Amino acid sequence: MNKVAKIFINMPIKTIAKGYSYIVPDQFSYLDIGWRVCVPFGHQYLEGFVVEIAFVENCDGLKEVVAVIDKSAWFNQEMMDTAKWIASYYLCSLGESMRLFIPGKKSISVDLFYEAIALEENGINCCCIYKYLQANGPLNLNCLKKYFPTYDMEKVLERLLSEGKIKKVYKIRSRAKEKFEKFVMINEFCDKDPNIYLKNKPAQLRLVNLMLTKRKLPRKTLMEFSSSVIHALEKDGFIHVVNERVLRDSYKDYHFQMVKKSLNPSQENAIEQVTAKICEKKHDTFLLYGVTGSGKTEVYINIVEKIRKLDKQAIILVPEIALASQMIQRFKENFSNDIVVMHSKLSIEERNDAIERLHNKEVGIVIGARSAVFVPLDDLGVIIIDEEHEVSYKQEERPYYHTREVAKMRTFYSNAILLLGSATPSLESYYKAQCSEYKLLSLPKRVNNSNLPSVHIVDMRNELAKGKRSILSDDLYALIKKTLENKEQIIILLNRRGHSTFVLCRECGHIIKCNHCDVPMVYHFSGILRCHYCDSVKTVPQECPHCYSRYIKYFGTGTQKLEEELYRLFPNASVLRMDRDTTTKKMAYEKILDDFRKEKYQILLGTQMVAKGHDFKNVTAVAILSIDSTINIPDFRAAERGFQLLTQASGRAGRHGNQGNVIVQTYNPCHYAITHAKEHDFISFYHEEMNFRKILNYPPYNQLLKIIIFDMVEEILIKKAEILARKLHLMMKSVKCNIIGPFSANVVKVKDIYKMNILIKSREMGKIKQLLCENELDKRKDITIDVDPMNSL
Ligand code: ADP
Ligand code: ZN
Ligand code: ZN
Repeated sequence: MNKVAKIFINMPIKTIAKGYSYIVPDQFSYLDIGWRVCVPFGHQYLEGFVVEIAFVENCDGLKEVVAVIDKSAWFNQEMMDTAKWIASYYLCSLGESMRLFIPGKKSISVDLFYEAIALEENGINCCCIYKYLQANGPLNLNCLKKYFPTYDMEKVLERLLSEGKIKKVYKIRSRAKEKFEKFVMINEFCDKDPNIYLKNKPAQLRLVNLMLTKRKLPRKTLMEFSSSVIHALEKDGFIHVVNERVLRDSYKDYHFQMVKKSLNPSQENAIEQVTAKICEKKHDTFLLYGVTGSGKTEVYINIVEKIRKLDKQAIILVPEIALASQMIQRFKENFSNDIVVMHSKLSIEERNDAIERLHNKEVGIVIGARSAVFVPLDDLGVIIIDEEHEVSYKQEERPYYHTREVAKMRTFYSNAILLLGSATPSLESYYKAQCSEYKLLSLPKRVNNSNLPSVHIVDMRNELAKGKRSILSDDLYALIKKTLENKEQIIILLNRRGHSTFVLCRECGHIIKCNHCDVPMVYHFSGILRCHYCDSVKTVPQECPHCYSRYIKYFGTGTQKLEEELYRLFPNASVLRMDRDTTTKKMAYEKILDDFRKEKYQILLGTQMVAKGHDFKNVTAVAILSIDSTINIPDFRAAERGFQLLTQASGRAGRHGNQGNVIVQTYNPCHYAITHAKEHDFISFYHEEMNFRKILNYPPYNQLLKIIIFDMVEEILIKKAEILARKLHLMMKSVKCNIIGPFSANVVKVKDIYKMNILIKSREMGKIKQLLCENELDKRKDITIDVDPMNSL
C-alpha cells in the first residue's frame, strides 16, 4: 500500500478546481491533512495544500511530493472547514480559498537542483552533462535544459542518478527570508578579572562592565564600540557573539501607559453577557450597537482579557489600516506585548514572523485589517469586528468573500465568539439582531455623558445663489475660524484625492479620460494627470486632443486643492492632509495620526480614512464636504453608506466633554440619510430604509448574486452578455428569482477591459449557485461571480 495525498495547488486560478494525487515518499510519512508541501505541477514546482490522505495499491503515473514546507500543519480542522465553506459559498476552488490563509499573494516556488558528486567518470554517452554538472553544479533543471537543448534531460539525469553520479537536491525558495541579528553575550566563566586585565583598555573595560549588568545585547545597540574592541574581548574570553533569528515587529517600540477605566453599567452588561457565552464554550454572535464615543473599545478589551485568561486567542479586525494604530495603542495599554499586527503595509517577512510568534505562543492577540481573519491559530476564542458595517470588509476580487461571514464560520467551527461592533450597524446585521439570530448589546450613551455633536446642514444651492464659488461655505469658514481661535482641532472630510477632479476643454466640452479606463483623469499637484482606477499617468495636454483649442480648464476640488485653499484662507493654521497619496510609506498613518493627536496640527483634511473610529481629545468640529457623491452612487446601498459616513464622521467631534459641531455641505439637504444623521437617529433611518428594501426586494429581505462578464471588445461583450442572460433565464426556470440585465458596469471600462453585469435576486440562492456550477459557469474564464455583492452595479 502506498500513502497518497490529495493536494490543491496554491494558485489564483479557478480552473484548477480539483485536487491532484501525489505519492507521499517514506521520508515524509508523517504528512497529514493541512500541511503545506511542494509538488511538481506542469513544468514547475509549486506550493500545495494536503486535503486528503489515502492508501492505495496502485499509484502508477503519480508523481511524488518533493518537499515539506513547515514544521507542522498550517491548517487545523477549523481552518480547513472554513476554507471548504468559502469555496462552496463563494464558488471558488479550494486552492483559491485555502491560499487566503497564507500571507502574501505569491506561491512558494521550488527550484529543482541537480548536484554532481565527485566520482570517476566511466565514459557513458551523456558524460558531457555530467562534466558540466561537476564543474558548475548544483544546477537548476531549467538551466541545464537551456545548455543541452537536444537531450531528453529527465532521462539523462535519471540515468546519472541511478549510477550514483548525481544526487537530487530539492530546494525551496521561500517567500520570506528569516532575519538574523548579531548579539553580544557575556561569557559565564572567565578567569580574568576585567578591572585588572583591561586596566589600560578603557573602551573594552566599559563594554565588559556594561555586559556584566545586561548579559546580552544586540550588536547594533553597541555602535560606539568598534569591531576591534569586540574582537579583542572575544579573543580574551570575556564575551562571545551569536547570530540569532529575530522576529520582526514594526510596533515593538510602541509602548503606552496602562489606564484602567471603571466601566459604566451598559459596558458591564455587555461584557457580562458575552462572558457568560465564553464560559459555555459555545459559538454565538453578538452585535454591539453603541453610539460614537460610547466606549466600545473598552468592551472589546475586557472581553479579550477574559479570553486570554482561558489561554485562547483573539483576532481584532479594523476596516482600514488607518484605524489599526489607534486600536493597537489601546490594546497595548492593556496587553503590552501580547499583540501582533497584520496588515498589507507590513512586509511578507514581518507577517510571517508575526505568525511564528503566534505559533510560539509568544503572543495571543492579532490586530489587523481584512486579511487578518485568516491568521492560523491553535485555539481561537473570539473574533471582534470593529465598524462591522464597513464595505472594506468585502474583498472586491476573487474570491469575493465578506470578512463578517468568514469570521462567522471560523468562530462557528471553533466554538468561539463573534462580536460585531458599530455605531451604524449594517442593515443585514441589525436585521439579524432583530430576528434574534444575533444577540443585541447596546451602549446608548457616550461615556462621561458627553453630548452627541450638533449637526448643521448647509444648503449649497443657497451659496451658489449668493454667487459664491468656493468649496467652503460661509458657515464652514466661520466654524473653522472659531475652532482655530479656541485652539481646538477640526477634521475636514473630502472624499476626492488629487487636485482637480477633472480637466475639460471649454471649447468643445471634451473631458480628458484615461486611455485604459472609462473615467476622467485627475489632476495632481505634481503637474500630472492620474487615473484613479489603473494608476496610469499623462502630462496635461497643451491643447485639446479633440478640437485643438488651447482653452483647457481644471474643475472640481480634490484634497490637494482644498489644502491650498485652507492655507490661503487661514495662513497661520497648520494643515495635515491624509489620503492615499500621503500614506504610501509604511507607518505613514501612524505618523500622521500621532502628529495630529499631539496637536502639532489644527486641521486634519482627508478622504474617508479621516472620518472613522478616531478618538482625538481636542477635536470639536467636523466638516463633511462630499456627502453628495456618496448618496448619489447608483446603488441600493447609497443611502445606507451616506448615513454611515455622516454619523461616523460627526462622531469624531466633541468626544471628551466639549460640545461638538458638525457642518454638512450638500445640494440635497432633505435626503433622509442626511436628516436622520442630523438627529443621530439610527433606528428611524433603519426603519425607513428597510421599507425601501422590502418594496424593492433587496437585502436583507433577499439575496443577491452578481455575474460579471468581461471582454476586450465591447461589441463582443454585449453579444456574449445577451446570450448568457437568455441562458440564465432558461437555467433558472424552476427557481424563484429575478434576473436583471445585462447592463453596463458603473465604470464601463477598467484597464482596457469592458464589463457588463447580470444581477440575480432570490431567496433560494443555494439552488441558484448549484445550477451555475452544474452548468460550469463558475469555471468560465470570461465570467466572475460575486456572491452577496456590495456594489450592485
Ligand atoms: P467608541 O469606540 O464607542 O466610539 P471609544 O471606545 O473610543 O468609543 O471610547 C471613547 C473614549 O471614552 C475613549 O477615550 C475611551 O478611553 C473613553 N472611555 C471608554 N470607556 C470609559 C469608561 N468606562 N470610563 C471613562 N472613559 C471611558
Ligand atoms: Zn476641445
Ligand atoms: Zn485608468
